[in-house]
Amino acid sequence: MSLRLEQVTKRFGSITAVDGVTLHIPEGEMFGLLGANGAGKTTTFRMILGLLTPTEGTITWNNEPIRYDQSHLIGYLPEERGLYPKLKVKEQLIYLARLRGMKKPAIMKEMMDWLERFKVPDYVDKRVEELSKGNQQKIQFIAAVLHRPKLLILDEPFSGLDPVNVELLKEAVIDLKRNGTTIVFSSHRMEHVEELCEHLCIMHRGKPVVSGALKEIKRSFGKKNVVIHADFSLEELSRFPGVLKAKQTAEGIHLQIEHEDVSQRILAHIANKGFIRKFALEEPSLNDIFIEKVGAVYE
Ligand code: ATP
Repeated sequence: MSLRLEQVTKRFGSITAVDGVTLHIPEGEMFGLLGANGAGKTTTFRMILGLLTPTEGTITWNNEPIRYDQSHLIGYLPEERGLYPKLKVKEQLIYLARLRGMKKPAIMKEMMDWLERFKVPDYVDKRVEELSKGNQQKIQFIAAVLHRPKLLILDEPFSGLDPVNVELLKEAVIDLKRNGTTIVFSSHRMEHVEELCEHLCIMHRGKPVVSGALKEIKRSFGKKNVVIHADFSLEELSRFPGVLKAKQTAEGIHLQIEHEDVSQRILAHIANKGFIRKFALEEPSLNDIFIEKVGAVYE
Protein backbone atom coordinates (compact mmCIF):
# COMPACT_ATOMS: atom_id res chain seq x y z
CA MET A 1 0.00 0.00 0.00
CA SER A 2 1.78 3.12 -1.11
CA LEU A 3 1.29 6.20 -3.21
CA ARG A 4 3.71 6.72 -6.06
CA LEU A 5 4.20 9.63 -8.41
CA GLU A 6 6.61 8.99 -11.24
CA GLN A 7 7.90 11.92 -13.30
CA VAL A 8 4.58 13.71 -13.06
CA THR A 9 4.21 16.89 -15.10
CA LYS A 10 1.18 19.12 -15.57
CA ARG A 11 1.05 21.90 -18.11
CA PHE A 12 -1.70 24.47 -18.54
CA GLY A 13 -0.96 25.93 -21.95
CA SER A 14 2.47 27.51 -21.66
CA ILE A 15 2.54 27.24 -17.83
CA THR A 16 4.21 24.20 -16.32
CA ALA A 17 2.52 23.95 -12.93
CA VAL A 18 4.17 20.65 -11.94
CA ASP A 19 7.46 19.64 -13.50
CA GLY A 20 8.78 16.09 -13.25
CA VAL A 21 7.76 15.24 -9.69
CA THR A 22 8.69 11.78 -8.40
CA LEU A 23 7.50 10.88 -4.91
CA HIS A 24 7.03 7.69 -2.97
CA ILE A 25 4.78 7.86 0.06
CA PRO A 26 4.65 4.62 2.07
CA GLU A 27 1.47 3.42 3.75
CA GLY A 28 0.77 4.93 7.14
CA GLU A 29 3.12 7.83 6.50
CA MET A 30 2.49 11.50 7.16
CA PHE A 31 4.02 13.33 4.22
CA GLY A 32 4.48 17.09 3.91
CA LEU A 33 4.41 19.02 0.68
CA LEU A 34 5.95 22.45 1.08
CA GLY A 35 6.27 25.33 -1.27
CA ALA A 36 5.60 28.99 -1.82
CA ASN A 37 2.39 30.22 -3.47
CA GLY A 38 2.07 28.82 -6.94
CA ALA A 39 4.67 26.09 -6.36
CA GLY A 40 2.30 23.42 -7.67
CA LYS A 41 0.99 21.76 -4.50
CA THR A 42 -2.73 22.01 -5.21
CA THR A 43 -2.21 20.87 -8.79
CA THR A 44 -0.30 17.84 -7.49
CA PHE A 45 -3.17 16.98 -5.13
CA ARG A 46 -5.75 17.34 -7.86
CA MET A 47 -3.79 14.90 -10.00
CA ILE A 48 -3.46 12.40 -7.13
CA LEU A 49 -7.24 12.56 -6.71
CA GLY A 50 -7.89 12.13 -10.41
CA LEU A 51 -9.51 15.58 -10.71
CA LEU A 52 -6.81 16.53 -13.22
CA THR A 53 -4.96 14.28 -15.64
CA PRO A 54 -1.18 14.57 -15.67
CA THR A 55 0.31 15.80 -18.96
CA GLU A 56 3.11 13.29 -18.40
CA GLY A 57 3.97 10.65 -15.82
CA THR A 58 1.98 8.22 -13.71
CA ILE A 59 0.33 8.20 -10.31
CA THR A 60 -0.50 4.92 -8.61
CA TRP A 61 -1.83 3.79 -5.29
CA ASN A 62 -1.08 0.18 -4.42
CA ASN A 63 0.30 -0.17 -7.94
CA GLU A 64 -2.95 0.90 -9.61
CA PRO A 65 -4.30 4.22 -10.83
CA ILE A 66 -6.71 5.84 -8.36
CA ARG A 67 -10.24 5.23 -9.62
CA TYR A 68 -13.52 6.92 -8.93
CA ASP A 69 -14.91 3.76 -7.31
CA GLN A 70 -12.23 4.01 -4.61
CA SER A 71 -13.51 7.36 -3.39
CA HIS A 72 -14.76 5.81 -0.16
CA LEU A 73 -11.10 5.09 0.65
CA ILE A 74 -9.97 8.65 0.06
CA GLY A 75 -10.53 11.84 2.03
CA TYR A 76 -9.82 15.32 0.71
CA LEU A 77 -9.80 18.71 2.37
CA PRO A 78 -9.56 21.11 -0.57
CA GLU A 79 -7.88 24.46 -0.30
CA GLU A 80 -11.01 26.31 -1.35
CA ARG A 81 -13.46 25.67 1.44
CA GLY A 82 -16.67 24.53 -0.17
CA LEU A 83 -19.54 23.58 2.09
CA TYR A 84 -23.13 24.45 1.18
CA PRO A 85 -23.83 27.61 3.21
CA LYS A 86 -27.57 27.04 3.63
CA LEU A 87 -27.36 23.43 4.78
CA LYS A 88 -27.18 22.49 8.42
CA VAL A 89 -23.89 20.94 9.57
CA LYS A 90 -25.72 17.67 10.20
CA GLU A 91 -27.37 17.57 6.76
CA GLN A 92 -24.10 18.44 5.09
CA LEU A 93 -22.08 15.74 6.83
CA ILE A 94 -24.76 13.07 6.37
CA TYR A 95 -24.99 13.88 2.65
CA LEU A 96 -21.25 13.67 2.09
CA ALA A 97 -20.77 10.51 4.16
CA ARG A 98 -23.67 8.79 2.34
CA LEU A 99 -21.96 9.50 -0.96
CA ARG A 100 -19.09 7.47 0.45
CA GLY A 101 -21.32 4.56 1.30
CA MET A 102 -21.85 5.06 5.03
CA LYS A 103 -25.13 4.26 6.77
CA LYS A 104 -26.95 6.86 8.84
CA PRO A 105 -26.49 5.38 12.36
CA ALA A 106 -22.73 5.06 11.81
CA ILE A 107 -22.60 8.57 10.39
CA MET A 108 -24.45 10.01 13.40
CA LYS A 109 -22.10 8.34 15.85
CA GLU A 110 -18.89 9.36 14.05
CA MET A 111 -20.23 12.86 13.50
CA MET A 112 -21.06 13.46 17.16
CA ASP A 113 -17.69 12.00 18.23
CA TRP A 114 -15.88 14.42 15.94
CA LEU A 115 -17.99 17.44 16.88
CA GLU A 116 -17.35 16.71 20.57
CA ARG A 117 -13.67 16.26 19.91
CA PHE A 118 -13.53 19.62 18.13
CA LYS A 119 -15.53 21.17 20.97
CA VAL A 120 -18.47 22.22 18.77
CA PRO A 121 -21.23 19.65 19.46
CA ASP A 122 -23.88 22.38 19.52
CA TYR A 123 -23.14 23.27 15.89
CA VAL A 124 -24.82 20.12 14.65
CA ASP A 125 -28.08 21.94 13.91
CA LYS A 126 -26.57 25.23 12.74
CA ARG A 127 -26.41 26.28 9.13
CA VAL A 128 -22.89 26.37 7.74
CA GLU A 129 -23.17 30.09 6.96
CA GLU A 130 -23.74 30.80 10.66
CA LEU A 131 -20.28 29.44 11.52
CA SER A 132 -17.01 31.39 11.52
CA LYS A 133 -14.47 30.56 8.82
CA GLY A 134 -12.28 28.57 11.19
CA ASN A 135 -15.23 26.56 12.45
CA GLN A 136 -16.40 25.87 8.90
CA GLN A 137 -12.93 24.51 8.28
CA LYS A 138 -13.26 22.11 11.19
CA ILE A 139 -16.57 20.88 9.75
CA GLN A 140 -14.96 20.41 6.36
CA PHE A 141 -12.13 18.48 7.98
CA ILE A 142 -14.74 16.23 9.60
CA ALA A 143 -16.32 15.76 6.16
CA ALA A 144 -12.94 14.59 4.85
CA VAL A 145 -12.35 12.02 7.59
CA LEU A 146 -15.81 10.83 8.69
CA HIS A 147 -15.74 7.77 6.43
CA ARG A 148 -12.30 6.73 7.78
CA PRO A 149 -10.34 7.02 4.55
CA LYS A 150 -7.14 5.08 3.99
CA LEU A 151 -5.59 7.98 2.13
CA LEU A 152 -6.15 11.52 3.35
CA ILE A 153 -5.14 14.60 1.37
CA LEU A 154 -5.19 17.89 3.25
CA ASP A 155 -4.54 21.11 1.37
CA GLU A 156 -3.41 23.75 3.88
CA PRO A 157 -5.36 22.20 6.77
CA PHE A 158 -4.08 24.65 9.38
CA SER A 159 -4.46 27.92 7.51
CA GLY A 160 -6.89 30.35 9.07
CA LEU A 161 -7.16 28.49 12.38
CA ASP A 162 -6.38 29.98 15.78
CA PRO A 163 -3.62 28.29 17.85
CA VAL A 164 -6.07 26.23 19.94
CA ASN A 165 -7.76 24.85 16.82
CA VAL A 166 -4.41 24.22 15.15
CA GLU A 167 -3.55 21.98 18.11
CA LEU A 168 -6.93 20.18 17.96
CA LEU A 169 -6.44 19.47 14.28
CA LYS A 170 -2.82 18.40 14.73
CA GLU A 171 -3.82 15.91 17.41
CA ALA A 172 -6.55 14.60 15.12
CA VAL A 173 -4.15 13.99 12.23
CA ILE A 174 -1.63 12.34 14.54
CA ASP A 175 -4.36 9.96 15.76
CA LEU A 176 -5.46 9.18 12.21
CA LYS A 177 -1.88 8.38 11.29
CA ARG A 178 -1.58 6.16 14.36
CA ASN A 179 -4.63 4.28 13.12
CA GLY A 180 -2.98 3.59 9.80
CA THR A 181 -4.20 6.43 7.56
CA THR A 182 -1.71 7.64 4.96
CA ILE A 183 -1.74 11.42 5.09
CA VAL A 184 -0.37 13.95 2.63
CA PHE A 185 -0.68 17.59 3.52
CA SER A 186 0.55 20.89 2.17
CA SER A 187 1.64 23.87 4.17
CA HIS A 188 3.53 27.11 3.97
CA ARG A 189 4.41 26.71 7.61
CA MET A 190 7.69 24.89 8.06
CA GLU A 191 7.18 24.25 11.76
CA HIS A 192 4.02 22.22 11.14
CA VAL A 193 5.79 19.98 8.67
CA GLU A 194 8.82 19.74 10.93
CA GLU A 195 6.64 18.63 13.81
CA LEU A 196 4.42 16.16 11.98
CA CYS A 197 6.26 14.62 9.03
CA GLU A 198 9.02 12.10 8.66
CA HIS A 199 9.17 12.65 4.92
CA LEU A 200 8.64 15.77 2.88
CA CYS A 201 9.12 17.46 -0.42
CA ILE A 202 9.80 21.14 -0.98
CA MET A 203 8.49 22.28 -4.35
CA HIS A 204 9.53 25.39 -6.17
CA ARG A 205 8.01 26.47 -9.45
CA GLY A 206 6.67 22.99 -10.02
CA LYS A 207 9.93 21.20 -9.32
CA PRO A 208 10.93 19.25 -6.23
CA VAL A 209 14.01 21.02 -4.86
CA VAL A 210 14.41 18.97 -1.67
CA SER A 211 12.81 15.61 -1.07
CA GLY A 212 13.25 12.75 1.36
CA ALA A 213 13.38 11.95 5.06
CA LEU A 214 13.45 15.01 7.32
CA LYS A 215 16.34 13.63 9.40
CA GLU A 216 18.37 12.84 6.31
CA ILE A 217 17.64 16.25 4.75
CA LYS A 218 18.88 17.93 7.91
CA ARG A 219 21.95 15.74 8.19
CA SER A 220 23.00 16.17 4.60
CA PHE A 221 22.51 19.95 4.79
CA GLY A 222 25.66 19.83 6.97
CA LYS A 223 25.34 23.30 8.40
CA LYS A 224 24.26 23.74 11.98
CA ASN A 225 23.14 26.55 14.22
CA VAL A 226 24.73 27.76 17.43
CA VAL A 227 22.78 29.84 19.90
CA ILE A 228 24.78 31.72 22.53
CA HIS A 229 23.51 33.92 25.32
CA ALA A 230 26.20 35.66 27.34
CA ASP A 231 26.89 38.70 29.49
CA PHE A 232 29.50 40.07 27.09
CA SER A 233 29.50 41.13 23.47
CA LEU A 234 29.40 38.30 20.95
CA GLU A 235 29.40 40.61 17.96
CA GLU A 236 32.92 39.61 16.83
CA LEU A 237 31.72 36.00 16.33
CA SER A 238 30.05 37.04 13.08
CA ARG A 239 33.59 37.14 11.63
CA PHE A 240 34.79 33.90 13.26
CA PRO A 241 36.16 31.36 10.69
CA GLY A 242 33.42 28.90 9.68
CA VAL A 243 30.55 31.24 10.63
CA LEU A 244 28.27 31.72 7.63
CA LYS A 245 25.54 33.91 9.06
CA ALA A 246 25.03 35.78 12.29
CA LYS A 247 21.99 37.36 13.81
CA GLN A 248 22.10 39.42 17.00
CA THR A 249 19.21 38.81 19.37
CA ALA A 250 18.21 40.53 22.60
CA GLU A 251 20.01 37.90 24.68
CA GLY A 252 22.93 37.02 22.46
CA ILE A 253 23.65 35.73 19.02
CA HIS A 254 22.34 33.12 16.61
CA LEU A 255 24.97 31.73 14.23
CA GLN A 256 24.87 29.46 11.23
CA ILE A 257 28.11 27.49 11.01
CA GLU A 258 29.46 25.40 8.15
CA HIS A 259 30.14 22.34 10.27
CA GLU A 260 29.55 21.28 13.86
CA ASP A 261 33.31 21.30 14.62
CA VAL A 262 33.21 25.08 14.37
CA SER A 263 31.04 25.18 17.51
CA GLN A 264 33.83 23.67 19.61
CA ARG A 265 36.30 26.26 18.38
CA ILE A 266 33.83 29.02 19.19
CA LEU A 267 33.29 27.61 22.66
CA ALA A 268 37.03 27.46 23.32
CA HIS A 269 37.36 31.03 22.06
CA ILE A 270 34.73 32.51 24.36
CA ALA A 271 35.22 30.23 27.37
CA ASN A 272 37.14 32.72 29.52
CA LYS A 273 35.60 35.95 28.32
CA GLY A 274 32.73 36.16 30.78
CA PHE A 275 29.53 34.57 31.93
CA ILE A 276 27.85 32.25 29.38
CA ARG A 277 24.17 31.63 30.07
CA LYS A 278 23.47 29.38 27.16
CA PHE A 279 25.49 27.60 24.51
CA ALA A 280 23.54 25.30 22.25
CA LEU A 281 24.38 23.46 19.06
CA GLU A 282 21.18 22.97 17.08
CA GLU A 283 20.05 21.19 13.95
CA PRO A 284 19.29 23.49 11.03
CA SER A 285 15.60 24.32 10.89
CA LEU A 286 13.51 23.43 7.88
CA ASN A 287 13.13 27.16 7.43
CA ASP A 288 16.92 27.55 7.03
CA ILE A 289 16.93 24.75 4.46
CA PHE A 290 13.92 26.11 2.57
CA ILE A 291 15.39 29.60 2.34
CA GLU A 292 18.70 28.32 1.09
CA LYS A 293 17.40 25.72 -1.39
CA VAL A 294 14.56 27.81 -2.78
CA GLY A 295 16.80 30.89 -2.74
CA ALA A 296 19.45 29.01 -4.74
CA VAL A 297 16.92 28.26 -7.46
CA TYR A 298 16.16 31.97 -7.79
CA GLU A 299 19.81 32.80 -8.53
P1 ATP B 1 -0.75 28.07 -3.24
O1 ATP B 1 0.19 27.83 -2.11
O2 ATP B 1 -0.82 29.51 -3.59
O3 ATP B 1 -2.06 27.42 -3.09
P2 ATP B 1 0.11 25.93 -5.02
O4 ATP B 1 1.48 25.45 -4.67
O5 ATP B 1 -1.02 25.12 -4.55
O6 ATP B 1 -0.04 27.43 -4.54
P3 ATP B 1 -0.98 25.58 -7.66
O7 ATP B 1 -2.34 26.07 -7.30
O8 ATP B 1 -0.79 24.14 -7.87
O9 ATP B 1 0.08 26.10 -6.59
O10 ATP B 1 -0.54 26.39 -8.97
C1 ATP B 1 0.68 26.14 -9.65
C2 ATP B 1 0.74 26.99 -10.92
O11 ATP B 1 -0.20 26.50 -11.87
C3 ATP B 1 0.40 28.46 -10.72
O12 ATP B 1 1.27 29.21 -11.54
C4 ATP B 1 -1.03 28.56 -11.19
O13 ATP B 1 -1.29 29.85 -11.67
C5 ATP B 1 -1.08 27.52 -12.29
N1 ATP B 1 -2.41 26.92 -12.45
C6 ATP B 1 -3.07 26.15 -11.55
N2 ATP B 1 -4.27 25.74 -12.04
C7 ATP B 1 -4.38 26.27 -13.27
C8 ATP B 1 -5.38 26.22 -14.30
N3 ATP B 1 -6.51 25.52 -14.14
N4 ATP B 1 -5.13 26.89 -15.44
C9 ATP B 1 -3.99 27.58 -15.62
N5 ATP B 1 -3.00 27.67 -14.70
C10 ATP B 1 -3.17 27.03 -13.54
